[in-house]
Amino acid sequence: MYKRKCDFTGDMIISTYKADSPYKVYHQDIWHSDKWDSKQYAKDIDWSRPFLEQFNELMFVIPHPSLASAYSTMTRSEYCSAASNCKDCYLCFRVSGAEDSGYLNTVVDIKQSFDCSFSNHSELSYGSTNVNKCYQAFFSQDCADCRTIWFSRDLVGCSDCFGCINLRNKSYCVFNEQYTKEEYQKKFKEFQFSTPEELENMQNQVEVFFLTQPRRYFHGIKNVNVSGEYISNSKNVSNSYLFSNGEDLKYCQFLKSGPSATSYDWSFFGDKAELMYDCCWCGWDSRNVKFSGWCYVNQDIEYYFGCHNSSNLFGCAGVRKGEYCILNKQYSKEEYFATVEKIRKQMNEIPYKDKLDRVYKYGEMLPAELSPWAYNEATVYEWFPVTKEQAVVEGFNWSDEDKREYIDTTMQIPENIKDVKNDILKAIIKCTDCGKNYQIIPAEFTFLQRFNFPIPRQCPLCRDRARIKSLNSMVIHKRNCAKCGKGIETSYAPDRPEIVYCESCYNNEVA
Ligand SMILES: [Zn+2]
Ligand SMILES: [Zn+2]
Repeated sequence: MYKRKCDFTGDMIISTYKADSPYKVYHQDIWHSDKWDSKQYAKDIDWSRPFLEQFNELMFVIPHPSLASAYSTMTRSEYCSAASNCKDCYLCFRVSGAEDSGYLNTVVDIKQSFDCSFSNHSELSYGSTNVNKCYQAFFSQDCADCRTIWFSRDLVGCSDCFGCINLRNKSYCVFNEQYTKEEYQKKFKEFQFSTPEELENMQNQVEVFFLTQPRRYFHGIKNVNVSGEYISNSKNVSNSYLFSNGEDLKYCQFLKSGPSATSYDWSFFGDKAELMYDCCWCGWDSRNVKFSGWCYVNQDIEYYFGCHNSSNLFGCAGVRKGEYCILNKQYSKEEYFATVEKIRKQMNEIPYKDKLDRVYKYGEMLPAELSPWAYNEATVYEWFPVTKEQAVVEGFNWSDEDKREYIDTTMQIPENIKDVKNDILKAIIKCTDCGKNYQIIPAEFTFLQRFNFPIPRQCPLCRDRARIKSLNSMVIHKRNCAKCGKGIETSYAPDRPEIVYCESCYNNEVA
Protein backbone atom coordinates (compact mmCIF):
# COMPACT_ATOMS: atom_id res chain seq x y z
CA MET A 1 0.00 0.00 0.00
CA TYR A 2 1.25 3.44 -0.88
CA LYS A 3 0.36 7.03 -0.12
CA ARG A 4 -0.42 8.98 -3.26
CA LYS A 5 -2.68 11.70 -4.68
CA CYS A 6 -6.18 11.03 -5.95
CA ASP A 7 -6.08 12.13 -9.59
CA PHE A 8 -9.67 13.42 -9.29
CA THR A 9 -9.64 15.46 -6.06
CA GLY A 10 -5.89 15.91 -5.45
CA ASP A 11 -6.35 14.59 -1.89
CA MET A 12 -3.78 12.25 -0.36
CA ILE A 13 -5.09 8.68 -0.36
CA ILE A 14 -3.98 5.11 0.37
CA SER A 15 -3.63 3.02 -2.74
CA THR A 16 -2.16 -0.13 -4.20
CA TYR A 17 -0.78 2.12 -6.97
CA LYS A 18 2.52 3.87 -6.25
CA ALA A 19 2.71 7.67 -6.25
CA ASP A 20 4.70 7.58 -9.51
CA SER A 21 2.55 4.89 -11.16
CA PRO A 22 1.72 5.96 -14.73
CA TYR A 23 -1.92 4.91 -14.19
CA LYS A 24 -4.69 7.35 -13.31
CA VAL A 25 -6.01 6.60 -9.81
CA TYR A 26 -9.23 7.83 -8.15
CA HIS A 27 -10.16 7.36 -4.52
CA GLN A 28 -12.67 4.52 -4.24
CA ASP A 29 -15.65 6.75 -3.38
CA ILE A 30 -15.09 8.72 -6.59
CA TRP A 31 -14.34 5.68 -8.73
CA HIS A 32 -17.54 3.94 -7.65
CA SER A 33 -19.64 7.12 -8.09
CA ASP A 34 -21.31 8.81 -11.08
CA LYS A 35 -18.66 11.55 -11.11
CA TRP A 36 -17.03 9.99 -14.15
CA ASP A 37 -18.16 7.76 -16.99
CA SER A 38 -16.07 4.91 -18.36
CA LYS A 39 -17.59 5.51 -21.80
CA GLN A 40 -15.95 8.92 -22.08
CA TYR A 41 -12.72 6.94 -22.69
CA ALA A 42 -14.30 4.89 -25.52
CA LYS A 43 -12.00 4.11 -28.41
CA ASP A 44 -12.61 3.06 -31.99
CA ILE A 45 -10.83 -0.06 -33.11
CA ASP A 46 -7.75 0.49 -35.26
CA TRP A 47 -7.75 -2.63 -37.41
CA SER A 48 -4.13 -2.08 -38.47
CA ARG A 49 -2.68 -2.55 -34.95
CA PRO A 50 -2.70 -5.36 -32.37
CA PHE A 51 -5.93 -5.22 -30.38
CA LEU A 52 -4.22 -5.73 -27.00
CA GLU A 53 -1.95 -2.74 -27.71
CA GLN A 54 -5.11 -0.65 -27.95
CA PHE A 55 -6.53 -2.24 -24.81
CA ASN A 56 -3.29 -1.32 -23.02
CA GLU A 57 -3.64 2.33 -24.14
CA LEU A 58 -7.13 2.31 -22.63
CA MET A 59 -5.64 1.00 -19.35
CA PHE A 60 -3.42 4.09 -19.18
CA VAL A 61 -6.18 6.67 -19.68
CA ILE A 62 -9.01 5.07 -17.70
CA PRO A 63 -9.18 5.86 -13.96
CA HIS A 64 -8.44 2.95 -11.62
CA PRO A 65 -9.81 2.70 -8.06
CA SER A 66 -7.29 3.36 -5.30
CA LEU A 67 -8.08 -0.02 -3.75
CA ALA A 68 -9.70 -3.06 -5.32
CA SER A 69 -12.60 -3.57 -2.91
CA ALA A 70 -16.36 -3.70 -3.31
CA TYR A 71 -16.43 -0.19 -1.83
CA SER A 72 -20.14 0.09 -1.05
CA THR A 73 -19.97 -3.03 1.15
CA MET A 74 -17.04 -1.81 3.30
CA THR A 75 -17.44 -0.07 6.66
CA ARG A 76 -14.59 1.70 8.49
CA SER A 77 -12.01 -0.51 6.77
CA GLU A 78 -10.07 1.93 4.64
CA TYR A 79 -6.76 0.06 4.80
CA CYS A 80 -8.16 -3.16 3.28
CA SER A 81 -8.08 -4.21 -0.36
CA ALA A 82 -9.49 -6.98 -2.52
CA ALA A 83 -12.20 -7.14 0.11
CA SER A 84 -15.97 -7.07 0.46
CA ASN A 85 -18.41 -6.86 3.37
CA CYS A 86 -15.83 -5.88 5.99
CA LYS A 87 -16.51 -3.88 9.11
CA ASP A 88 -13.86 -2.33 11.35
CA CYS A 89 -10.98 -4.21 9.76
CA TYR A 90 -7.37 -3.15 9.34
CA LEU A 91 -4.85 -4.35 6.75
CA CYS A 92 -6.97 -7.26 5.57
CA PHE A 93 -6.65 -8.51 2.01
CA ARG A 94 -8.69 -10.93 -0.12
CA VAL A 95 -11.45 -11.03 2.44
CA SER A 96 -15.17 -11.69 2.11
CA GLY A 97 -16.95 -10.73 5.30
CA ALA A 98 -14.79 -9.89 8.31
CA GLU A 99 -15.42 -7.88 11.44
CA ASP A 100 -13.23 -6.30 14.12
CA SER A 101 -10.11 -7.96 12.72
CA GLY A 102 -6.64 -7.18 11.44
CA TYR A 103 -3.95 -8.69 9.21
CA LEU A 104 -6.15 -11.31 7.53
CA ASN A 105 -5.21 -12.86 4.19
CA THR A 106 -7.67 -14.76 1.97
CA VAL A 107 -10.47 -15.49 4.43
CA VAL A 108 -14.24 -15.72 4.47
CA ASP A 109 -16.46 -14.83 7.43
CA ILE A 110 -13.96 -14.14 10.22
CA LYS A 111 -14.65 -12.19 13.40
CA GLN A 112 -12.40 -10.65 16.07
CA SER A 113 -9.29 -12.33 14.75
CA PHE A 114 -5.77 -11.21 13.92
CA ASP A 115 -2.97 -12.68 11.82
CA CYS A 116 -4.99 -15.45 10.18
CA SER A 117 -4.70 -16.73 6.61
CA PHE A 118 -6.71 -18.99 4.29
CA SER A 119 -9.38 -19.57 6.89
CA ASN A 120 -13.17 -19.56 6.93
CA HIS A 121 -16.06 -19.10 9.38
CA SER A 122 -13.97 -18.61 12.50
CA GLU A 123 -13.84 -16.29 15.45
CA LEU A 124 -11.39 -15.02 18.08
CA SER A 125 -8.39 -16.66 16.43
CA TYR A 126 -4.77 -15.62 16.19
CA GLY A 127 -1.72 -16.65 14.17
CA SER A 128 -3.64 -19.47 12.49
CA THR A 129 -3.66 -20.80 8.94
CA ASN A 130 -6.15 -22.98 7.12
CA VAL A 131 -8.66 -23.26 9.94
CA ASN A 132 -12.35 -23.70 9.25
CA LYS A 133 -15.29 -23.26 11.62
CA CYS A 134 -13.05 -22.73 14.63
CA TYR A 135 -13.55 -20.61 17.73
CA GLN A 136 -10.35 -19.54 19.45
CA ALA A 137 -7.74 -21.24 17.27
CA PHE A 138 -4.34 -19.95 18.38
CA PHE A 139 -1.16 -20.59 16.37
CA SER A 140 -2.90 -23.57 14.80
CA GLN A 141 -3.06 -24.96 11.29
CA ASP A 142 -5.22 -27.32 9.21
CA CYS A 143 -7.98 -27.62 11.83
CA ALA A 144 -11.77 -27.76 11.53
CA ASP A 145 -14.75 -27.59 13.88
CA CYS A 146 -12.56 -26.92 16.93
CA ARG A 147 -12.83 -24.74 19.99
CA THR A 148 -10.02 -23.25 22.06
CA ILE A 149 -7.03 -25.02 20.54
CA TRP A 150 -3.45 -23.88 21.04
CA PHE A 151 -0.37 -24.57 18.90
CA SER A 152 -2.08 -27.50 17.16
CA ARG A 153 -2.27 -29.11 13.76
CA ASP A 154 -4.75 -31.26 11.90
CA LEU A 155 -7.43 -31.48 14.59
CA VAL A 156 -11.10 -32.08 13.83
CA GLY A 157 -13.94 -31.64 16.30
CA CYS A 158 -11.59 -30.99 19.24
CA SER A 159 -11.72 -28.56 22.11
CA ASP A 160 -9.24 -27.45 24.77
CA CYS A 161 -6.18 -29.05 23.25
CA PHE A 162 -2.60 -27.80 23.46
CA GLY A 163 0.30 -28.76 21.16
CA CYS A 164 -1.73 -31.58 19.58
CA ILE A 165 -1.77 -33.14 16.12
CA ASN A 166 -4.00 -35.64 14.27
CA LEU A 167 -6.73 -35.81 16.91
CA ARG A 168 -10.44 -36.35 16.20
CA ASN A 169 -13.18 -35.35 18.65
CA LYS A 170 -10.91 -35.06 21.70
CA SER A 171 -10.80 -32.63 24.59
CA TYR A 172 -8.23 -31.78 27.27
CA CYS A 173 -5.21 -33.20 25.48
CA VAL A 174 -1.66 -31.89 25.76
CA PHE A 175 0.91 -33.07 23.23
CA ASN A 176 -1.64 -35.76 22.27
CA GLU A 177 -1.92 -37.07 25.82
CA GLN A 178 -5.32 -37.27 27.43
CA TYR A 179 -5.88 -35.42 30.74
CA THR A 180 -8.92 -34.72 32.87
CA LYS A 181 -10.37 -31.23 32.71
CA GLU A 182 -8.76 -30.28 36.02
CA GLU A 183 -5.38 -31.75 35.07
CA TYR A 184 -5.56 -29.94 31.74
CA GLN A 185 -6.26 -26.61 33.38
CA LYS A 186 -3.35 -27.12 35.76
CA LYS A 187 -1.04 -28.20 32.95
CA PHE A 188 -2.12 -25.26 30.78
CA LYS A 189 -0.93 -22.80 33.42
CA GLU A 190 2.57 -24.26 33.19
CA PHE A 191 2.96 -23.15 29.57
CA GLN A 192 4.49 -19.76 29.02
CA PHE A 193 4.15 -17.78 25.80
CA SER A 194 3.73 -14.18 26.90
CA THR A 195 7.19 -12.97 25.80
CA PRO A 196 8.59 -13.24 22.24
CA GLU A 197 11.25 -15.70 23.44
CA GLU A 198 8.75 -17.92 25.28
CA LEU A 199 6.44 -17.88 22.27
CA GLU A 200 9.24 -18.90 19.93
CA ASN A 201 10.34 -21.68 22.29
CA MET A 202 6.75 -22.92 22.51
CA GLN A 203 6.44 -23.01 18.72
CA ASN A 204 9.77 -24.82 18.37
CA GLN A 205 8.78 -27.32 21.03
CA VAL A 206 5.53 -28.27 19.25
CA GLU A 207 7.30 -28.48 15.87
CA VAL A 208 9.78 -30.98 17.35
CA PHE A 209 6.86 -33.02 18.71
CA PHE A 210 4.95 -32.84 15.41
CA LEU A 211 7.96 -34.31 13.56
CA THR A 212 7.53 -37.50 15.60
CA GLN A 213 3.91 -37.90 14.43
CA PRO A 214 2.67 -39.05 11.00
CA ARG A 215 1.19 -36.64 8.44
CA ARG A 216 -1.46 -37.41 5.89
CA TYR A 217 -0.09 -37.13 2.32
CA PHE A 218 -2.77 -34.55 1.44
CA HIS A 219 -4.65 -31.78 3.31
CA GLY A 220 -8.39 -31.74 2.77
CA ILE A 221 -11.58 -33.64 3.43
CA LYS A 222 -14.79 -34.79 1.74
CA ASN A 223 -13.40 -35.00 -1.81
CA VAL A 224 -14.13 -37.22 -4.79
CA ASN A 225 -11.49 -37.56 -7.50
CA VAL A 226 -9.27 -34.66 -6.48
CA SER A 227 -5.57 -33.95 -6.99
CA GLY A 228 -3.48 -31.04 -5.74
CA GLU A 229 -3.27 -29.74 -2.17
CA TYR A 230 -5.49 -28.09 0.48
CA ILE A 231 -8.78 -28.93 -1.22
CA SER A 232 -12.01 -29.83 0.56
CA ASN A 233 -15.65 -30.59 -0.29
CA SER A 234 -14.77 -30.87 -3.97
CA LYS A 235 -15.33 -33.19 -6.89
CA ASN A 236 -13.40 -33.80 -10.10
CA VAL A 237 -10.60 -31.34 -9.47
CA SER A 238 -7.08 -31.78 -10.77
CA ASN A 239 -3.78 -30.02 -10.17
CA SER A 240 -5.34 -27.34 -8.02
CA TYR A 241 -4.58 -25.63 -4.73
CA LEU A 242 -6.25 -24.24 -1.67
CA PHE A 243 -10.00 -23.96 -1.88
CA SER A 244 -13.21 -25.71 -0.99
CA ASN A 245 -16.52 -26.34 -2.75
CA GLY A 246 -15.15 -26.77 -6.27
CA GLU A 247 -16.35 -29.03 -9.06
CA ASP A 248 -14.86 -29.83 -12.47
CA LEU A 249 -11.79 -27.61 -12.08
CA LYS A 250 -8.24 -27.85 -13.37
CA TYR A 251 -5.25 -25.63 -12.57
CA CYS A 252 -7.25 -23.45 -10.15
CA GLN A 253 -5.97 -21.82 -6.95
CA PHE A 254 -7.23 -19.77 -4.00
CA LEU A 255 -10.94 -19.83 -4.78
CA LYS A 256 -11.83 -19.15 -1.16
CA SER A 257 -15.08 -20.82 -0.12
CA GLY A 258 -16.69 -21.36 -3.54
CA PRO A 259 -18.80 -22.65 -5.03
CA SER A 260 -16.68 -22.66 -8.15
CA ALA A 261 -17.39 -24.86 -11.13
CA THR A 262 -16.32 -25.90 -14.61
CA SER A 263 -13.25 -23.71 -14.89
CA TYR A 264 -9.62 -23.87 -15.92
CA ASP A 265 -6.51 -21.79 -15.19
CA TRP A 266 -7.99 -19.47 -12.60
CA SER A 267 -6.48 -17.88 -9.49
CA PHE A 268 -8.58 -16.01 -6.91
CA PHE A 269 -11.36 -15.68 -5.84
CA GLY A 270 -14.43 -17.82 -6.55
CA ASP A 271 -17.51 -16.99 -4.48
CA LYS A 272 -20.14 -18.45 -6.80
CA ALA A 273 -18.63 -18.51 -10.28
CA GLU A 274 -18.47 -20.87 -13.22
CA LEU A 275 -17.02 -21.17 -16.71
CA MET A 276 -13.96 -19.10 -15.84
CA TYR A 277 -10.89 -19.46 -18.02
CA ASP A 278 -7.47 -17.78 -17.79
CA CYS A 279 -8.64 -15.34 -15.11
CA CYS A 280 -7.29 -13.86 -11.94
CA TRP A 281 -9.15 -11.96 -9.22
CA CYS A 282 -12.52 -12.87 -10.68
CA GLY A 283 -15.69 -14.33 -9.24
CA TRP A 284 -18.70 -13.44 -7.09
CA ASP A 285 -21.72 -14.23 -9.23
CA SER A 286 -19.73 -14.46 -12.45
CA ARG A 287 -20.15 -16.73 -15.44
CA ASN A 288 -18.26 -17.27 -18.67
CA VAL A 289 -15.36 -14.90 -18.09
CA LYS A 290 -12.09 -15.24 -19.98
CA PHE A 291 -8.61 -13.68 -20.16
CA SER A 292 -9.37 -11.09 -17.52
CA GLY A 293 -8.43 -9.56 -14.19
CA TRP A 294 -10.32 -8.17 -11.19
CA CYS A 295 -14.05 -8.45 -11.76
CA TYR A 296 -17.23 -9.42 -10.05
CA VAL A 297 -20.88 -9.92 -11.01
CA ASN A 298 -20.22 -10.32 -14.72
CA GLN A 299 -21.06 -12.64 -17.52
CA ASP A 300 -19.92 -13.32 -21.08
CA ILE A 301 -16.85 -11.12 -20.92
CA GLU A 302 -13.38 -11.36 -22.47
CA TYR A 303 -10.18 -9.34 -22.12
CA TYR A 304 -11.06 -6.80 -19.52
CA PHE A 305 -9.80 -5.29 -16.33
CA GLY A 306 -11.83 -3.92 -13.42
CA CYS A 307 -15.34 -4.28 -14.86
CA HIS A 308 -18.34 -5.05 -12.67
CA ASN A 309 -22.06 -5.76 -12.93
CA SER A 310 -21.72 -6.14 -16.68
CA SER A 311 -22.24 -8.56 -19.54
CA ASN A 312 -20.97 -8.90 -23.10
CA LEU A 313 -17.84 -6.77 -22.89
CA PHE A 314 -14.69 -7.28 -24.95
CA GLY A 315 -11.41 -5.44 -24.30
CA CYS A 316 -12.90 -3.05 -21.74
CA ALA A 317 -11.55 -1.43 -18.58
CA GLY A 318 -13.37 0.19 -15.68
CA VAL A 319 -16.88 -0.45 -17.04
CA ARG A 320 -19.60 -0.68 -14.40
CA LYS A 321 -23.07 -1.81 -15.46
CA GLY A 322 -22.19 -2.05 -19.14
CA GLU A 323 -23.38 -4.21 -21.98
CA TYR A 324 -22.19 -4.74 -25.58
CA CYS A 325 -19.05 -2.58 -25.28
CA ILE A 326 -15.69 -2.94 -27.02
CA LEU A 327 -12.77 -0.76 -25.86
CA ASN A 328 -15.44 0.92 -23.69
CA LYS A 329 -17.43 2.00 -26.77
CA GLN A 330 -21.14 1.18 -26.91
CA TYR A 331 -22.32 -1.06 -29.77
CA SER A 332 -25.74 -2.45 -30.60
CA LYS A 333 -26.20 -6.13 -29.78
CA GLU A 334 -25.88 -7.17 -33.44
CA GLU A 335 -22.87 -4.93 -34.11
CA TYR A 336 -21.21 -6.21 -30.93
CA PHE A 337 -21.31 -9.89 -31.84
CA ALA A 338 -20.24 -9.26 -35.44
CA THR A 339 -17.34 -7.01 -34.36
CA VAL A 340 -16.12 -9.39 -31.62
CA GLU A 341 -15.95 -12.19 -34.19
CA LYS A 342 -13.88 -9.92 -36.44
CA ILE A 343 -11.51 -8.95 -33.57
CA ARG A 344 -10.85 -12.57 -32.62
CA LYS A 345 -9.73 -13.16 -36.22
CA GLN A 346 -7.71 -9.94 -36.28
CA MET A 347 -5.95 -10.93 -33.02
CA ASN A 348 -4.66 -14.04 -34.76
CA GLU A 349 -3.61 -12.16 -37.89
CA ILE A 350 -1.98 -9.17 -36.12
CA PRO A 351 -1.14 -10.58 -32.67
CA TYR A 352 0.25 -8.64 -29.73
CA LYS A 353 4.00 -9.08 -29.15
CA ASP A 354 5.49 -8.33 -25.74
CA LYS A 355 8.91 -6.79 -25.12
CA LEU A 356 10.51 -10.24 -25.34
CA ASP A 357 8.79 -10.77 -28.69
CA ARG A 358 6.45 -13.41 -27.29
CA VAL A 359 3.29 -13.65 -29.38
CA TYR A 360 -0.20 -13.40 -27.80
CA LYS A 361 -2.95 -14.48 -30.17
CA TYR A 362 -6.65 -14.74 -29.32
CA GLY A 363 -7.19 -17.24 -26.50
CA GLU A 364 -4.22 -16.36 -24.27
CA MET A 365 -4.30 -14.66 -20.86
CA LEU A 366 -3.50 -10.93 -20.93
CA PRO A 367 0.29 -10.50 -21.13
CA ALA A 368 1.88 -9.97 -17.69
CA GLU A 369 3.50 -6.74 -18.87
CA LEU A 370 0.00 -5.22 -19.16
CA SER A 371 -0.54 -5.61 -15.41
CA PRO A 372 -0.71 -2.27 -13.59
CA TRP A 373 1.36 -3.84 -10.79
CA ALA A 374 4.93 -5.07 -10.86
CA TYR A 375 5.79 -8.71 -10.18
CA ASN A 376 7.03 -7.93 -6.68
CA GLU A 377 3.85 -5.96 -5.84
CA ALA A 378 1.58 -8.84 -6.86
CA THR A 379 0.39 -11.97 -5.03
CA VAL A 380 2.56 -14.14 -7.28
CA TYR A 381 5.63 -12.79 -5.50
CA GLU A 382 4.43 -14.27 -2.19
CA TRP A 383 4.35 -17.75 -3.70
CA PHE A 384 7.11 -17.58 -6.29
CA PRO A 385 9.64 -15.02 -5.07
CA VAL A 386 12.35 -14.19 -7.61
CA THR A 387 15.12 -11.57 -7.80
CA LYS A 388 14.76 -8.44 -9.88
CA GLU A 389 17.20 -9.92 -12.43
CA GLN A 390 15.13 -13.11 -12.80
CA ALA A 391 11.92 -11.11 -13.14
CA VAL A 392 13.40 -8.91 -15.86
CA VAL A 393 14.67 -11.95 -17.79
CA GLU A 394 11.13 -13.36 -17.75
CA GLY A 395 9.71 -10.03 -18.96
CA PHE A 396 7.94 -9.11 -15.72
CA ASN A 397 7.77 -5.53 -14.50
CA TRP A 398 9.61 -4.75 -11.25
CA SER A 399 9.05 -2.05 -8.65
CA ASP A 400 12.19 -0.78 -6.93
CA GLU A 401 11.92 -0.39 -3.16
CA ASP A 402 11.23 3.15 -2.05
CA LYS A 403 14.26 4.80 -0.53
CA ARG A 404 12.54 5.63 2.78
CA GLU A 405 14.57 5.59 5.94
CA TYR A 406 12.90 3.60 8.68
CA ILE A 407 13.35 4.68 12.29
CA ASP A 408 14.32 2.56 15.25
CA THR A 409 11.57 1.44 17.62
CA THR A 410 10.57 4.54 19.55
CA MET A 411 10.15 2.92 22.96
CA GLN A 412 11.47 0.05 25.04
CA ILE A 413 8.76 -2.57 24.61
CA PRO A 414 8.41 -4.78 27.70
CA GLU A 415 9.06 -8.43 26.87
CA ASN A 416 6.02 -9.70 28.76
CA ILE A 417 2.61 -8.60 27.45
CA LYS A 418 1.50 -8.17 31.08
CA ASP A 419 3.93 -5.28 31.47
CA VAL A 420 2.93 -3.47 28.26
CA LYS A 421 0.95 -0.27 28.84
CA ASN A 422 -1.33 1.74 26.58
CA ASP A 423 1.57 3.89 25.36
CA ILE A 424 2.42 0.99 23.02
CA LEU A 425 -0.33 2.40 20.79
CA LYS A 426 1.81 5.49 20.18
CA ALA A 427 4.99 3.52 19.49
CA ILE A 428 6.52 3.14 16.06
CA ILE A 429 8.10 -0.29 15.89
CA LYS A 430 10.89 -1.44 13.60
CA CYS A 431 10.40 -4.95 12.20
CA THR A 432 13.21 -7.28 13.27
CA ASP A 433 12.98 -9.07 9.90
CA CYS A 434 12.61 -6.42 7.18
CA GLY A 435 13.41 -3.23 9.11
CA LYS A 436 10.20 -1.44 8.10
CA ASN A 437 8.04 0.40 10.61
CA TYR A 438 4.60 -0.60 11.86
CA GLN A 439 2.25 0.11 14.76
CA ILE A 440 -0.06 -1.77 17.10
CA ILE A 441 -3.76 -0.91 16.84
CA PRO A 442 -6.04 -0.74 19.91
CA ALA A 443 -8.18 -3.82 19.07
CA GLU A 444 -5.03 -5.85 18.48
CA PHE A 445 -3.52 -4.76 21.81
CA THR A 446 -6.70 -5.69 23.69
CA PHE A 447 -6.67 -9.09 21.98
CA LEU A 448 -3.00 -9.76 22.83
CA GLN A 449 -3.59 -8.80 26.47
CA ARG A 450 -6.67 -10.99 26.71
CA PHE A 451 -4.90 -14.13 25.46
CA ASN A 452 -1.43 -13.38 26.80
CA PHE A 453 0.49 -13.14 23.54
CA PRO A 454 3.48 -10.78 23.28
CA ILE A 455 3.67 -7.68 21.10
CA PRO A 456 4.82 -9.04 17.72
CA ARG A 457 8.35 -7.93 16.79
CA GLN A 458 7.80 -8.58 13.09
CA CYS A 459 5.64 -6.37 10.87
CA PRO A 460 2.25 -7.66 9.62
CA LEU A 461 3.63 -8.43 6.14
CA CYS A 462 6.54 -10.50 7.48
CA ARG A 463 4.12 -12.36 9.75
CA ASP A 464 1.83 -13.03 6.79
CA ARG A 465 4.73 -14.29 4.65
CA ALA A 466 5.82 -16.60 7.49
CA ARG A 467 2.32 -18.12 7.58
CA ILE A 468 2.38 -18.64 3.80
CA LYS A 469 5.76 -20.36 4.18
CA SER A 470 4.29 -22.73 6.76
CA LEU A 471 1.95 -24.15 4.12
CA ASN A 472 3.03 -26.96 1.84
CA SER A 473 3.78 -25.72 -1.65
CA MET A 474 1.83 -26.25 -4.87
CA VAL A 475 4.50 -28.60 -6.20
CA ILE A 476 3.54 -32.28 -6.02
CA HIS A 477 6.28 -34.91 -5.52
CA LYS A 478 6.46 -38.65 -5.72
CA ARG A 479 7.39 -40.28 -2.42
CA ASN A 480 6.62 -43.49 -0.54
CA CYS A 481 4.30 -44.00 2.41
CA ALA A 482 6.47 -44.23 5.52
CA LYS A 483 4.35 -47.11 6.83
CA CYS A 484 3.43 -49.42 3.93
CA GLY A 485 5.91 -48.20 1.31
CA LYS A 486 3.22 -47.57 -1.30
CA GLY A 487 3.96 -44.81 -3.87
CA ILE A 488 2.14 -41.56 -3.10
CA GLU A 489 1.87 -38.14 -4.72
CA THR A 490 2.25 -35.43 -2.12
CA SER A 491 3.28 -31.86 -1.52
CA TYR A 492 5.79 -33.12 1.07
CA ALA A 493 9.04 -33.16 -0.91
CA PRO A 494 11.05 -36.39 -0.44
CA ASP A 495 13.77 -34.54 1.49
CA ARG A 496 11.36 -33.10 4.06
CA PRO A 497 11.67 -34.58 7.54
CA GLU A 498 7.96 -35.28 8.18
CA ILE A 499 6.71 -38.88 8.46
CA VAL A 500 4.20 -39.04 5.59
CA TYR A 501 1.51 -41.70 5.37
CA CYS A 502 -0.81 -42.72 2.55
CA GLU A 503 -4.56 -42.31 3.05
CA SER A 504 -5.25 -45.79 4.41
CA CYS A 505 -2.24 -45.94 6.75
CA TYR A 506 -3.09 -42.49 8.10
CA ASN A 507 -6.74 -43.45 8.60
CA ASN A 508 -5.77 -46.70 10.33
CA GLU A 509 -3.60 -44.85 12.78
CA VAL A 510 -5.40 -41.57 13.24
CA ALA A 511 -8.93 -41.16 12.02
ZN1 LIG B 1 8.80 -6.92 8.29
ZN1 LIG C 1 0.60 -46.54 3.54
